[in-house]
Amino acid sequence: MTSTTNNGLAILIGAGPGDAGLLTREGETWLRRCEVVLYDRLANPALLALVPDSAERIFVGKRPDHHAKTQDEINALLVEHTSAGKLVARLKGGDPLIFGRGGEEADALAAAGCKFRIVPGITAAIAAGAYAGISLTDRRCASTLALVTGHEDPTKDESTIDYAALAGIDTVVFYMGIGRLEQIAAKLIESGKSPDTPAALVRCATRPEQTTLTATLGTIYQTAQDAGIRPPALLIVSPAIDPDRRIDWFSQLPLHGQTVAVTRSRTQASRVAREIESLGGLAIEVPTIDIRPAADAEHSTEVVECIGGFDMLVFTSPNGVDHFFATLFELGFDARTLADVEIAVVGPGTAAALEAFGLRADLMPEATFTTAALGETLCGLDLTDKRILLARSDIAPKILPEQLTAAGAIVEDLAIYTTAKPDALPAAAADAFAENTVDWITFSSSSTVDNFLTLTGEQATSFLKATKIASIGPVTSDTLRAAGFEPTLEASPHTIDALIDAIKNYA
Ligand code: SAH
Repeated sequence: MTSTTNNGLAILIGAGPGDAGLLTREGETWLRRCEVVLYDRLANPALLALVPDSAERIFVGKRPDHHAKTQDEINALLVEHTSAGKLVARLKGGDPLIFGRGGEEADALAAAGCKFRIVPGITAAIAAGAYAGISLTDRRCASTLALVTGHEDPTKDESTIDYAALAGIDTVVFYMGIGRLEQIAAKLIESGKSPDTPAALVRCATRPEQTTLTATLGTIYQTAQDAGIRPPALLIVSPAIDPDRRIDWFSQLPLHGQTVAVTRSRTQASRVAREIESLGGLAIEVPTIDIRPAADAEHSTEVVECIGGFDMLVFTSPNGVDHFFATLFELGFDARTLADVEIAVVGPGTAAALEAFGLRADLMPEATFTTAALGETLCGLDLTDKRILLARSDIAPKILPEQLTAAGAIVEDLAIYTTAKPDALPAAAADAFAENTVDWITFSSSSTVDNFLTLTGEQATSFLKATKIASIGPVTSDTLRAAGFEPTLEASPHTIDALIDAIKNYA
């Protein structure tokens, strides 16, 4: 074995089964630092968001329209980038060493004298057990567990799997077995497992689209055929499978099986989407607005630089908060610059965005979280000669600064960010609408309605007639009605949390 003199290091990281939250903290630490990432299909795309923007992203998995890289090519890429002195993350679904060919990759790195580490991940079997409520080992009935590849054809002589031995194992889990389900089940029965043994297929474990089928070893193939189950799925054969699924908590979550299209700005959509997912739903983000720094960034910088000279700072959206602080930090300042400045926000979402920067809002309307209510709250104070900075979008209505000026304040209405329209629906959203699988669509402002209608053009009617519509409040609902669409529900109070609650409680 030769040894390299450079600092190259490869990390084989188990990405876990699908839910981004199931990555280990060690895996996250390395992903956040890497310079190159090699990933494949089973790794959740949300994990790639942890990788620095500057890192090179290399897809090495199979994709219908792409020639898959061979294992040799992947090994060569790993060695090439590591030898070049890079910190290389190799992100693999589940655990790298459980049917993941991580052993071959580590061998190739070792042979080339490259330094490497291996970070384990939650393998599909463990994940399916937890998320489908199947206790893979259970003191009462299952003391042994086998993980088996279903990739080999059990009817062919070259199969290395000892089915007779498997018949004596309590819980047997097959990976990659969907294509050969019939042969696998037949072979297990032929080798001595009772056809009455409970069997389950768990597809897309831990993902919002997770589905579980339960049957017996004798009937599982026909059950799978009837349901048309597709990979990725595991076959679990075990006396510990409860046909009543009493501990299958995941499929009992309030939004399990519901697909929710979330129309919001790119930065804010993620939080709503995560919320929907934590309730078991499948969130599809539909960015109808791109949020960008305002065109006149120089002006923003000049105003923010003088923030110490203002008495009050007013935010009417989380985007305003984010862009204000981005500008403040670029100037080399931090939150201490705001020590003597009162801060007012329109509602809890904006307050939360502010708290992310370590600051609490001094003022917020009490019950209704609208700009009008904020104006009333502020005008209830003595504003005479108060210097107030509004950090808002370039299209924010002028009524708030007018109200404050009329009340005696000296107002600077700073357009710190601007909104632009994306050109097309993201592919995932376009597919879901075309396939008619969207159960809900959420609108969080009139502009998300307008932009969605522009974005979808003639298709808007067929898309919106086929789904339930959740509106954040009366103004947004009016915009929907004006376009001919009646909201199914309206949030009260007019917050994102209330909107999600309303969807949750609808059923
Ligand atoms: N290294 C991975 C396995 C890769 S082999 C791991 O440790 O999980 C690919 C097979 O894993 C698929 O054919 C399927 O059987 C199984 N698999 C992976 N992710 C899965 C998931 N989320 N739900 C069910 N099965 C999954």
